[in-house]
Amino acid sequence: MTGINRKEWVTVHWKHHSDTDRKGDPHSPVFLGFWRVQLGNVLLYRKAARDPEIMKLGEKVNLSWAEKNLFTSPLLGLSIGIGTACLIFGWWQGLLIALFHTVFYLQLNSLVNAYCHLWGYRNFPEADAFNSKWVAWITGGEGFHNNHHKKPGSPKLSNKKWEFDMGWAIIETLEFFGLAETK
Ligand SMILES: [Zn+2]
Ligand SMILES: [Zn+2]
Repeated sequence: MTGINRKEWVTVHWKHHSDTDRKGDPHSPVFLGFWRVQLGNVLLYRKAARDPEIMKLGEKVNLSWAEKNLFTSPLLGLSIGIGTACLIFGWWQGLLIALFHTVFYLQLNSLVNAYCHLWGYRNFPEADAFNSKWVAWITGGEGFHNNHHKKPGSPKLSNKKWEFDMGWAIIETLEFFGLAETK
């Protein structure tokens, strides 16, 4: 509900996985430096999404009716998202949620792409990127980025017993109550 086009996001993400920290990676801090990725991540995504060569990778990604008609337009998608939050929580609370979402969520997302491709430790030396415990704490487990590059399809981002993955803990809790299925 944020105006992010899932097809574009998925395609740019695939490109990142296929050329990680090599020429062609849309947002590698190894080439661009930490701050250009940390502060310019959204622009780097948009630039990659306008490249027809890159977008060919995601030709088969199909969007639902609502995604196509409502949520791919940043203005309409954002208005629906923010409007719904305002209706449910009140107008200033809704705007606060929107601000929190855009500033924190986008910056945290950038932090994974920027920090975790430069610093941290590796459980899998053969895989790209790094794990960072403190980034994982504030991103719901996403900071275990070396684990993610090793197993890109796994919703579980932690690997060692002592790695705390809040996203996975939430999924396991939902599963306990029969609200999610992981097997
Ligand atoms: Zn990565
Ligand atoms: Zn990924």
